[in-house]
Amino acid sequence: MRVAVIGTGYVGLVSGACFADFGHTVTCIDKSTNKIDLLNDGKVPIYEPGLDQIIEKNAAEQRLFFSTDPSAAVRMADAVFIAVGTPTRRGDGHADLTYVYEAAREIASLLDGFTVVVTKSTVPVGTGDEVEKIIRETNPNANVAVVSNPEFLREGAAIEDFKRPDRVVVGTDNAEAVEVIRELYRPLFLNETPILISKRRTAELIKYAANAFLAVKITFINEIADLCEKLDANVQEVARGMGLDNRIGSKFLHAGPGYGGSCFPKDTLALAKTAETVDSELKIVNSVIEVNAARKMKMARKVIDFMGGDVSGKTVAILGLAFKPNTDDMRDAPSIDIINGLEKAGAKIRAYDPASMNEASELMKHVMYCDGPYHAIENADVVVIVTEWDQFRALDLDRVKRLAKEPKMLDLRNIYQKSYMEKEGFIYESIGRAY
Ligand code: NAD
Repeated sequence: MRVAVIGTGYVGLVSGACFADFGHTVTCIDKSTNKIDLLNDGKVPIYEPGLDQIIEKNAAEQRLFFSTDPSAAVRMADAVFIAVGTPTRRGDGHADLTYVYEAAREIASLLDGFTVVVTKSTVPVGTGDEVEKIIRETNPNANVAVVSNPEFLREGAAIEDFKRPDRVVVGTDNAEAVEVIRELYRPLFLNETPILISKRRTAELIKYAANAFLAVKITFINEIADLCEKLDANVQEVARGMGLDNRIGSKFLHAGPGYGGSCFPKDTLALAKTAETVDSELKIVNSVIEVNAARKMKMARKVIDFMGGDVSGKTVAILGLAFKPNTDDMRDAPSIDIINGLEKAGAKIRAYDPASMNEASELMKHVMYCDGPYHAIENADVVVIVTEWDQFRALDLDRVKRLAKEPKMLDLRNIYQKSYMEKEGFIYESIGRAY
């Protein structure tokens, strides 16, 4: 099949590359000339493990193309995926659908023959209706089915998630469109991936409900972690004890500094706003948004308290900046609130992240970006682990002690054991673990 993908970001590029790897002919389109030039030069503009090999292989085999111009690819496409950003709209918290509607307008006049237009971006209920309206108004002759096919991949594990998803959700009433989508994803059904066909509006809601539920789970265990600290308990053991119950499951029960990233913060907010507009308040989701935002701010306070109440003039080594490991994505990363809070309190920051320092340096100008974890630790008064990259899990602790001013570590991801760190001579604190 022939596929055009509008928007070549984390989702568009991974989807396009994987569809090409399934054997389809794909053109990824983006407005950013810089991105497309990089890709046409054989470079990958984002950090995502395994993506470079898939792109290289499929580009070489003439199944994957990149362009800033949608004309030719959209005209020939059996399916056009819209995978542009849907950030929070400034001022009111709703999803900003400007890019989605702009993409719909751009492709409308180019559609030729029966084409399935697939919204892969995370969009509020009713967006598909609006996309269809825009296309039909712009091009009344278009033979089009507008389908919702939300994406559930996680950055850092995106290829695996795309190629082995838990399910494929398709929102449409159009049987012909379902056949096109089935054909596109055919390799997945050999592995018996469930495909859920629903109405378009329901499919749009499934994505938000799933993300909001995961945000609830994280926020729940974070609050339990705080309680553990007060009650001399251990949140990792609580989480394990809960997670072994099949009704609960062990995933998304890792206590930490609060969720961030390009999805949960904006999607919880957008869902709450949608609910508000139809007078059906989501009290749980609203609490989660509030608790999580406060938690990210509170983490700077936690560092300050750990340092005896004052960090002015102190040097803090921050290990990890991206919102999670294996990505360079800094959107809504907890590190931003933590670093801003510490800088405001007078601390100097030395930081290292294996992938996100370019992104981070655009957002945080006063940080000293270092060449590696040990460089960041040099002369630091305290080491704070913010993102659990594998390379921070087995630091040479003797070297850390030699380099740092003091053997102090605040581990916001619980990657070390308290008793072990204390035996190694560290003053060590983590999240929700009294022991
Ligand atoms: P992104 O910001 O990485 O990429 C979006 C791209 O679209 C940008 O490169 C931008 O230049 C391009 N673009 C915008 N308008 C365009 C247009 N008219 N024509 C061509 N290109 C255009 O965004 P992302 O993280 O890939 O997210 C895309 C969507 O997928 C969002 O709705 C997001 O919520 C959803 N989603 C993201 C993830 C994730 O992990 N990032 C996971 C699931 C779903």
